[in-house]
Amino acid sequence: MTLTLNAKTPPGPIEQKWDTHKFEMKLVNPANKRKFRVIVVGTGLAGGSAAATLSELGYQVSCFCFHDSPRRAHSIAAQGGINAAKNYQNDGDSIYRLFYDTIKGGDFRSREANVYRLAEVSVNIIDQCVAQGVPFAREYGGLLANRSFGGAQVSRTFYARGQTGQQLLLGAYQALERQIVRGGVQMYPMTEMLDLIVVDGRARGIIARDLLTGAITPHVADAVVLATGGYGNVFFLSTNAKLSNCTAIWRAYRRGAAFGNPCFTQIHPTCIPVSGDYQSKLTLMSESLRNDGRVWVPRRRGDKRAPSEIPEAERDYYLERKYPSFGNLAPRDIASRAAKEVCDEGRGVGPTGLGVYLDFADAIGRLGEDTIRDRYGNLFDIYQRITDENPYRVPMRIYPAIHYTMGGLWVDYNLMTTIPGLHAIGEANFSDHGANRLGASALMQGLADGYFILPYTIGDYLATNKLDRVDASHPAVREADAAVRGRISKLLGVRGGRTADSFHRELGKTMWELCGMSRNADGLKKALEVIPQIRDQFWKEVVVPNTGDTVAFNQELEKAGRVADFLELAELICIDALHRNESCGGHFREEYQTADGEAKRDDEHFAYAAAWEYGGEGKPPVLNKEPLTFEAVHLSQRSYK
Ligand SMILES: Cc1cc2nc3c(=O)[nH]c(=O)nc-3n(C[C@H](O)[C@H](O)[C@H](O)COP(=O)(O)OP(=O)(O)OC[C@H]3O[C@@H](n4cnc5c(N)ncnc54)[C@H](O)[C@@H]3O)c2cc1C
Repeated sequence: MTLTLNAKTPPGPIEQKWDTHKFEMKLVNPANKRKFRVIVVGTGLAGGSAAATLSELGYQVSCFCFHDSPRRAHSIAAQGGINAAKNYQNDGDSIYRLFYDTIKGGDFRSREANVYRLAEVSVNIIDQCVAQGVPFAREYGGLLANRSFGGAQVSRTFYARGQTGQQLLLGAYQALERQIVRGGVQMYPMTEMLDLIVVDGRARGIIARDLLTGAITPHVADAVVLATGGYGNVFFLSTNAKLSNCTAIWRAYRRGAAFGNPCFTQIHPTCIPVSGDYQSKLTLMSESLRNDGRVWVPRRRGDKRAPSEIPEAERDYYLERKYPSFGNLAPRDIASRAAKEVCDEGRGVGPTGLGVYLDFADAIGRLGEDTIRDRYGNLFDIYQRITDENPYRVPMRIYPAIHYTMGGLWVDYNLMTTIPGLHAIGEANFSDHGANRLGASALMQGLADGYFILPYTIGDYLATNKLDRVDASHPAVREADAAVRGRISKLLGVRGGRTADSFHRELGKTMWELCGMSRNADGLKKALEVIPQIRDQFWKEVVVPNTGDTVAFNQELEKAGRVADFLELAELICIDALHRNESCGGHFREEYQTADGEAKRDDEHFAYAAAWEYGGEGKPPVLNKEPLTFEAVHLSQRSYK
């Protein structure tokens, strides 16, 4: 261990930690805020809300995204909803219950104080978004509506049909646009961060490439915020937007930011099953559908009858059978493994046998088709367009797929990484979700970080550190700039015959098979042999078409750079998965399970966040541990029965 991990968790009772901390943090005088420049990379819910809020406070903000518009960030795809402990349903919800559900849902592998703060701030998010005009669903009488999500027995999920992310992002985007027009935010669309500038141990800027012109430029600032999303696309096929990638956080890792719990990846149980090798992406069917859809497979293995021909008595509603308390709303990791189990038994449905039914017949009979259309219409339309089957008439077929990454850059309570001045928010950080994220809590975390937490904590950093002026002539800036140019030349110079995509597909297949829904030591060791081989081949055989002009629009070059980083990150994920000799949440090691096949934690040896430190080129990463201590909750075996 070489890093000193200081989580900076404030002392005192859990309900008072954030308030006390806010009071104790130093403030930047309003007149001085404009003297500081903050770089925000990413314009999803986390980055968009942070950039808008920082500028509203008076800071100068430079904001970057690789899309043509900030509003194209992956967040726009979020479907089902956002949690908040408002207790509008009067069904027993509270900040403490949301905190408890989230920490238990994460299998007790998250930092208690952060999770409590998340639950606390959740109520402000809804007020903020309603004030912005986000059109959340409402009851007939005008009050905001709620629905249920997995891992909770209360209804606390706020939603805008199946387009919650889109509506929330439009809210954040309008706030951001206002600041762009005002001049507080300088927006750089179609610009990709390719490296971090570290001066005297502090993050002081980024090197970015203009994706239209190819120009490579340094941008300096007093602090840097990475809000660059998750790395689920390391598995190639995932529900993530096709362009989501790990480059920003991976480059920061290589510059010294510790990477937290990389093996904590989430598989979502309700995705449209893979249909063939030609696919480049998978599609989510929101968890909200499990409010009304019932999951089942035939009782008999190899039963090829159409679902309508299988009588009730010959169906196995396995989630309702195994988890009577939570039924179809069992958490994602549990519902995913249960689906795999029945398919492994030969009871899966559809042409590949890798599918289970999500059936709305009962709900349509009870509530009528119009009500179901009102609740989920756009999701049913997506399903029908992709499968050419009408889910109002025949059950949907679903199967688990990679969806979210709980791992990410390790951050302290102030959302600062192990590089002073470098902050990470939203899905890019190792987050408040521990080993498993409960549905509707990523949007909550991204907006909590961006609207309500980072704007306070970054002020404390700026107010308490003396930051000398840095300009583009600084040797550290020139070194980072040269590193980016060198890497691009190297990619262009390989001139092989295989596309970056073909390597990505091969990597993804390896990851899914050996480090996917369940893992074991032999498989992980094999992955650790195979991944370096794919990487070696990549650097010998990849082709990046070009005209010899590096300063040009070149999407294959963008792709190749991102795949090269995935090829390194994949190895770290497997190293982390191999070292964690326990099962927890989405990390299911086959060797560690209870008699009835549930995840078996080892709290004595693994109640810590793993923070991996870059060991240098060709050297193994170094493991640092942040012990997780629990004062407000009692560690228990998760049970949803
Ligand atoms: C299909 C789907 C549905 C979901 N539904 C829900 C839901 O209902 N509820 C819920 O809570 N969660 C949901 N999630 C999860 C949630 O959508 C994400 O976790 C969340 O939106 C991530 O937000 P973010 O701001 O952290 O990152 P993103 O929205 O991924 O934004 C990343 C930003 O970073 C930029 N960027 C990345 N790298 C670079 C770089 N190198 N240089 C410049 N810019 C860069 C991108 O351009 C983009 O602007 C869903 C996820 C998926 C895949």
